[in-house]
Amino acid sequence: MSSTVLVVGGAGYIGSHACKALSRAGYLPVAYDDLSLGHAHAVKWGPLEVGDIADRARLDEALAKHRPVAAMHFAAFAAVGESVADPEKYYRNNVAGTLTLLAALRAAKVNRFVFSSTCAVYGTPGTMPIAETTPKAPVNPYGRSKLMVEQALEDYGRAYGFGWTALRYFNAAGADPEGEIGEEHEPETHLIPRALFAAKGILPYLDVFGDDYPTPDGTCIRDYVHVADLADAHVAAIKRLDAGGAPGAFNLGTGQGYSVRQVIDAVERATKLNVPIRMAARRAGDPPELVANPALARVELGFAPKLSDIDTIVATAWRRMAAVNRQVG
Ligand code: UDP
Repeated sequence: MSSTVLVVGGAGYIGSHACKALSRAGYLPVAYDDLSLGHAHAVKWGPLEVGDIADRARLDEALAKHRPVAAMHFAAFAAVGESVADPEKYYRNNVAGTLTLLAALRAAKVNRFVFSSTCAVYGTPGTMPIAETTPKAPVNPYGRSKLMVEQALEDYGRAYGFGWTALRYFNAAGADPEGEIGEEHEPETHLIPRALFAAKGILPYLDVFGDDYPTPDGTCIRDYVHVADLADAHVAAIKRLDAGGAPGAFNLGTGQGYSVRQVIDAVERATKLNVPIRMAARRAGDPPELVANPALARVELGFAPKLSDIDTIVATAWRRMAAVNRQVG
């Protein structure tokens, strides 16, 4: 019998790719998702349990039924602008909801936990690239909600012997290279899918949020990492905890940054189409540059991205979008 892993938020973008990676590695992923942002059709590698992370009775029921050996947690709100406008939503779900989930896991004696964290815990650091030793100073409620959970996990680890790993993603992007699942945010706010929409003509143009940043071409620089590489890192994190690895937080990025203009060039190369653009004001809360130092993840998790060059990221996203003939939400 294969080992079961509870994938909380398993119907979402990164969670569904993690389910596929787990299944490939011989685990049975059980997706637990309230389907508020996730899609039932993205749950393909194991059962779906519909439920909210704040619903302790429902969590207890799913845990008793499936008896997982570990859990991964992707169920969070992740829109920076929304977190500024409605912090209550973020603290209630991302923090309070996660504490309910952790209580249910501890009661069920599930002692291996992989948490979706973010480079937003670092805020706007003065030096690049960002290592785990870079001071954590989030600049919005989203980043603070993730850091609060990381801090709780540190305390839980010390007090309860709870085994956890926090994975701080830089910019998750791309789609399953076999085209079975992809990115389906409603509405879609992310750069690469929106640039693809503009190339395809289902958006009239791509807004470029600021070209007066202190970067070589004036647009923001990000470290784009393929979602399938992120998914593999989650499986590695479970195995590492299994082998007695200590709790800790690791940056998941490539170490290579691309500007918005360079991403647009990659989209034009992949699609062989023009991306019409419109210059727009800076988006509130956007740091000029976020690039990872992934050295620790390389050592601790064997993290070696295979699909994270920008052309592969864009090509997989484009293939998936063409396959589902995606419209703008
Ligand atoms: N961006 C942009 N136009 C868009 C969406 C995003 O210029 O329609 C920029 C955004 O300002 C940021 C980068 O692209 O500098 C990546 O943004 P995204 O929302 O994809 O990810 P984030 O960095 O916010 O996690």
